[in-house]
Amino acid sequence: MALIVQKYGGTSVATIERIEQVARKVISARARGDSVVVVVSAMSGETDRLLGLARQIASRPDAREVDVLISTGEQVTIALLAMTLQKLGCPARSYTGAQIPIVTDAAFGKARIAQIDPARMQADLAAGRVVVAAGFQGVDADGNITTLGRGGSDTTGVALAAALGADECQIFTDVDGVYTADPRIVPTARRLDHVTFEEMLELASLGAKVLQIRSVEFAGKYNVPLRVLSTFQDGPGTLITYEEQQVEEVIISGIAHNRDEAQITVSGIADQPGVAYRVLGPVADANIEVDMIVQNVARDGTTDLTFTVHRNDHERALEILRAGQAELNAREITGDAGIAKVSVVGVGMRSHAGVAARMFAVLATEGINIRMISTSEIKISVVVSEKYMELAVRALHEAFGLDQKPNAH
Ligand code: ASP
Ligand code: MG
Repeated sequence: MALIVQKYGGTSVATIERIEQVARKVISARARGDSVVVVVSAMSGETDRLLGLARQIASRPDAREVDVLISTGEQVTIALLAMTLQKLGCPARSYTGAQIPIVTDAAFGKARIAQIDPARMQADLAAGRVVVAAGFQGVDADGNITTLGRGGSDTTGVALAAALGADECQIFTDVDGVYTADPRIVPTARRLDHVTFEEMLELASLGAKVLQIRSVEFAGKYNVPLRVLSTFQDGPGTLITYEEQQVEEVIISGIAHNRDEAQITVSGIADQPGVAYRVLGPVADANIEVDMIVQNVARDGTTDLTFTVHRNDHERALEILRAGQAELNAREITGDAGIAKVSVVGVGMRSHAGVAARMFAVLATEGINIRMISTSEIKISVVVSEKYMELAVRALHEAFGLDQKPNAH
């Protein structure tokens, strides 16, 4: 008999009919002999609706009261699901984060889980009940309600699975798994049976937005097997675990893309020690995160520094740099928001040479200019003009054989 934590997102509990569908899935898991803890999000759109109400009162409402307000979305769905399970003859009990309790720090709106006491849930499970827990919320040491940040129910699911020593945390959503690329760009993209935590972190942060990134980190840290699967369609989904458990010999797992970045170039600065710090220091001081960085030295002894920031920070970063342009003695400071990042991701890269060369060859054949390159052990990213992004993703997906079964090449 296995202990499973199932998390259902907002679209899965959007109506009473869908809540009933969720209840039936829980009941069939129990019929297979498993014990089930269910974590639910608020009905889709509800958290935004509540935030909208708060903003009618103040543009920056008090953070403590915002958490009291938006935690109610999940309180509604736990009660509705518990009632539905009971109606269908399945004993169930709902709990808010504070009732479990899920103790967090006091950072309203982005609280971190400090401790979970599993005793109450274990007692219910032992008594044959389904535990229905509110996602996204906790309670601080002073008894204040806290929330974990948008999409935080995924993290609740993983955290409860870790606290209970569950066999698997299943994240039910409206897609049937993690894909080799965005199917809207690559119609031949296929569902991955398995990815590693590390690959998932790269795929998620690069744009395959299936899971809250923190929940993947959490699952990796506590070694909780995660499975992403569809509420509306039966299937095995995608299992996310450590590498050891991988059976297939795949080099590349997926092609990720990201349109969220913009480029800044500071040119004609003196090529001296400390210059990178003088450019990037003020940007970091403004709490702006820098992703890729490239430095070129020109024959006249000056240097250009090009880097990327989030698009939302682009204007602010340019302003900061231009304010210091005279002091930096920079010839020019330019920005370009029309860029995109394309990455090939796969743990198999560790043991295979030549992946980067192959990637660059594919882009060259398509006539796509590479503006920046960065690599890690399991990822190679390039920055290209945004207008070539889709072409790059499709060409790479094909070149790395991703639209076939992995054992076919
Ligand atoms: N209801 C919260 C949100 O919309 C938490 C979640 O859905 O995971 O962000
Ligand atoms: Mg979500």
